[in-house]
Amino acid sequence: MLIVLHHSATAKDVEHIKKTIMGMGLKPVAIPGAERTAIGVIDNQGWVDDILLRGNKAIQEIIHVTKPYKLVSRDFHPKDTVVPLGNKVTVGGASPFLMIGGPCAVESRDQLMKTALHLKKAGVPVLRGGAYKPRTSPHSFQGLREGGLDLLDEVRKETGLLVVTEIVSPEHVELVADKVDILQIGARNMQNFDLLTEVGKTKKPVILKRGLSATVEEWLGSAEYMLVNGNPNVVLCERGIRTFETATRNTADLAIIPLVRKMTHLPIIFDPSHATGKRDLVLPAALAAIVVGAHGIMVEVHPDPERALSDGAQSLHFKEFDTLLAQARSLVAFKKQKLS
Ligand code: PEP
Ligand code: MN
Repeated sequence: MLIVLHHSATAKDVEHIKKTIMGMGLKPVAIPGAERTAIGVIDNQGWVDDILLRGNKAIQEIIHVTKPYKLVSRDFHPKDTVVPLGNKVTVGGASPFLMIGGPCAVESRDQLMKTALHLKKAGVPVLRGGAYKPRTSPHSFQGLREGGLDLLDEVRKETGLLVVTEIVSPEHVELVADKVDILQIGARNMQNFDLLTEVGKTKKPVILKRGLSATVEEWLGSAEYMLVNGNPNVVLCERGIRTFETATRNTADLAIIPLVRKMTHLPIIFDPSHATGKRDLVLPAALAAIVVGAHGIMVEVHPDPERALSDGAQSLHFKEFDTLLAQARSLVAFKKQKLS
């Protein structure tokens, strides 16, 4: 339920309404807006009887929100959320278009540092790299795990870049949060609710990938877990979904980007690498995402993709990454936006 107050409502009115809601055994969340305040009600298991609120003169409207997500919905928070990723970098709203690049997996100090220096020179603020790799086969490279985290930590300190890595277990939250700036929840873990809850208890920015076969409602439900637990710094990432088509690794669901922007105030970025699985499709898919309104892109790039230990076929060479960056820069300039 969402309670929209009149312009004239006072702080005393807000307190009174919050008390009434708590008296009903529910949790009020005040949502201050530029023009008027609203109060969201969470923790209800179904329809809420609003009889105790109906006569209140400070209330303009009571909206019964029946969606499985509330805090992430535009009904609750009409303005775009801007997520701070570090001291100087933000994503969402009118922030510069966000560029994230890096290898699928952290493989060695040399590989990570070479990539980081290339990104830094190109002005890209965020380096990606998986330390824990959830792989389809147990025989595939599983990541350097704690060793990979240490390398990410070392490289961010040396270069000043922000780093993002995937977290795969709720038990790892403290360890990973200490070594990187941004957490990533992968497609395969989008509905790992214990993981979402633990990450929600931190204030760390988190990139939430869309599950392999997740509907938008399921995806937003997962984001809701983190907001309900106290973390508002969630960035959605469309990375392609599983369809009948096998010519590309996944099917890039680009129309979902403008749709999601209508449904939620959270920023949404696009991962053209996993969405296509093919190096030569990464550039056109990335540009398409800019056109449809993504707030940023996350691209796999590797100093030697032919020898990459994971996702080499979709990883760009440095030169290809530079071409993508130049074209992205022109496109965002055309859209009168800046590139981070
Ligand atoms: C990744 O970013 O390397 C990754 C494993 O992505 P996803 O979870 O989208 O498959
Ligand atoms: Mn990958």
